[in-house]
Amino acid sequence: MKKFMAVLLAGLVLMSIFSTAFAGCNHRWRGWINYDKNPPTCQKAGQQVNMCTVCKVHIYRDCNKLPCDYQPAKCEEKPKCRMCHGDMPNGKVKQHSWKSATCVSLKTCNDCGKQEGELGNHVLTCATCEQRATCIYCGNEFGGYASHIYINGDVCYICGHHK
Ligand SMILES: [Zn+2]
Ligand SMILES: [Zn+2]
Ligand SMILES: [Zn+2]
Ligand SMILES: [Zn+2]
Ligand SMILES: [Zn+2]
Repeated sequence: MKKFMAVLLAGLVLMSIFSTAFAGCNHRWRGWINYDKNPPTCQKAGQQVNMCTVCKVHIYRDCNKLPCDYQPAKCEEKPKCRMCHGDMPNGKVKQHSWKSATCVSLKTCNDCGKQEGELGNHVLTCATCEQRATCIYCGNEFGGYASHIYINGDVCYICGHHK
């Protein structure tokens, strides 16, 4: 108890020294920021510090644990805390956002780039008398040419071929 009183007394003395030394200052506080030697985190309480921008006096205050700072989830994960890397309780696992496979690329996640599955089918244009069926993705041609289409006479209206 005596020890406690001594500490208290010392504190009082210090405080009075402070208030005398800076009595003339009309403090302008910079604002509370985490004290870098004992910062509060989501795992433990800590201290914050404030400073007068005029006379540079520092004051400290205890600060409770901070809430976890969750970042948007990555694919197949829950949102995680930036500081302790813990999962958000009740957080939702983020699903991939798939872009369908084509004949040249696998099914691919727009967000993380993960690929899976197999290549997709070719997507073909209709054949004409000038152009075989052609895949819009890979450009390969398939099958044969289509017949000419004669309308109103002997000239193909696609290629101009005469019967
Ligand atoms: Zn001041
Ligand atoms: Zn955390
Ligand atoms: Zn993904
Ligand atoms: Zn193709
Ligand atoms: Zn034709």
